[in-house]
Amino acid sequence: MANECKWDNKGQYSKKRIILYEQIFGEGYISSGGHGTTLQICSTLQNLEKGARVLDIGSGIGGPAFFLESQYGCRVTGVDLCEDIFTIAKERVAIRGSEVNFLLGDILNMDFAPNSFDVIMSRDTLLHIPEIKKYELFEKCFHWLDENGEMIIADYCRRPRNEDICESFNEYATDRGYDLHEPFEYGKMLEDAGFKKVDVQDVSSDFLEMLETELEQFRKDFNPLPISFEKVDYEDLEKSWLAKIEWVRSRNMRKGILYGRLG
Ligand code: SAM
Repeated sequence: MANECKWDNKGQYSKKRIILYEQIFGEGYISSGGHGTTLQICSTLQNLEKGARVLDIGSGIGGPAFFLESQYGCRVTGVDLCEDIFTIAKERVAIRGSEVNFLLGDILNMDFAPNSFDVIMSRDTLLHIPEIKKYELFEKCFHWLDENGEMIIADYCRRPRNEDICESFNEYATDRGYDLHEPFEYGKMLEDAGFKKVDVQDVSSDFLEMLETELEQFRKDFNPLPISFEKVDYEDLEKSWLAKIEWVRSRNMRKGILYGRLG
């Protein structure tokens, strides 16, 4: 675990970046779509009620977990691999007087008793999990869920494997160590793991709108540039948003919401 605790994916989740992402995505979020995507996820889930046991895989700094606790009275467990992210989440538990149970560690090394959860959710985290491990993880999730349990995943995707992706998107995904799939491939993986009523949504056009709105907001909020903020970081982020917008427009990059349940 000692090495895992230092994991920040080559600076992607350095402290500076985490704070920056939160400024862009909104309080508690380090993923595109911020709270809007949480609302979208919640509108699909059927088991969100007082006392429902929820596992958030890659829980980040806690936006979705705190919302499910305060809005629905869910009992949330969040797992995250990055120590700096985990520390921020824990600080916020204390500040809020929350009972969300954040755990530091790699979800792939964790185990829970069968029937431990009514809902498993994950946002923009599966991209960090290698393909072979995804199969294992989905099978584990299947066992961790109650007989009426449900799982929802929102994640970066790509065009089908038999269609090449452009070089710049390939370089970006390779550099970050992302393992990306076409949304329907994910659907098949869930079915193979035993999930029923699998539903796959390609939400790339919503994602494109979000990216454009975030970029516009980012340009407004960071003009003038705060003193604490270096121009090179601003340019870097702006460049990465512009690239994502282009990749989604050209259908290289996709975004999927995957749903499945046990019964
Ligand atoms: N879900 C959060 C959100 O929406 O704000 C965070 C999304 S962030 C893009 C991806 C998160 O996944 C990071 O916090 C990262 O540390 C975590 N992560 C990556 N691989 C993981 C793993 N194997 N186990 C647990 N967490 C992991």
